[in-house]
Amino acid sequence: MLVIDPGHGGLDGGASAGDGTTESVLNLQIALRMEALARLTGAECRLTRREEALDYPAELDTVHEKKVWDQKTRVALINNTPGAVLFSVHQNRYPDPRPSGCQVLYAKTPGSKELGELVHGNLVSRLCPENRRVAAPVGESIYLMKQIGCPAILVECGFLSNYEEAKKLESEGYQKLLAAVLVASYWQYEITRPLPGGEGAA
Ligand SMILES: [Zn+2]
Repeated sequence: MLVIDPGHGGLDGGASAGDGTTESVLNLQIALRMEALARLTGAECRLTRREEALDYPAELDTVHEKKVWDQKTRVALINNTPGAVLFSVHQNRYPDPRPSGCQVLYAKTPGSKELGELVHGNLVSRLCPENRRVAAPVGESIYLMKQIGCPAILVECGFLSNYEEAKKLESEGYQKLLAAVLVASYWQYEITRPLPGGEGAA
C-alpha cells in the first residue's frame, strides 16, 4: 500500500519560496496528484493528511505539543497500515539561491535504501538529468523517518530557494510530472521487491 505523507501542514508551513508560497501547500498538492494517479493505476493509497489545516485536539496548548501530536499521529497511521511503503513529500531550501534539483533520502528500515536509489534515479533521469546529488540516508533529526517500520523515503522535490525551480514546483504541469514519476517508481518497487519472508518461506 502506498502511503503518502505531505510534509508539514497546520501550524508548520515548512520552507517557503520567495513569493511566500509555503512548502506545506506544495507538498499537499503533489501528494493529492500522486493519490489520483495511484488510484487510477489500481494502487491502494493512503495520505497522512488531506488538508492544510490540522485538527489538533482541544486540550493541547503549545505549538510544540501540537507539532508532537501531529508527528505521532502520522507515525501511528503509517505503522498501522499493513504493507505500507512510505513516500514523504518535501521541498528543499538553501541559503544560496543557486542549488536546484531533487534528492531522495531513505530511512534505515529494510527496503528503504533500494527504494530510495530507485526513486532518485528515476527522478534524476526524467526531471533533472544535470543533477549530481545522490540518494542518501535521512538525517537523524527527522522524527517521523526514525519511528516508522516500513520501507520509507523522504523526497525533496526541489529547492524553493531557487527562483526558477520554485516557479516550476508551483506549476500544475511539473507537479503532474513529479507525481507520475513517483507513482511509477512505487509500482516498479512493488513489482520487483522480494516477497515478504524471502526465499524458503512457507
Ligand atoms: Zn520539509
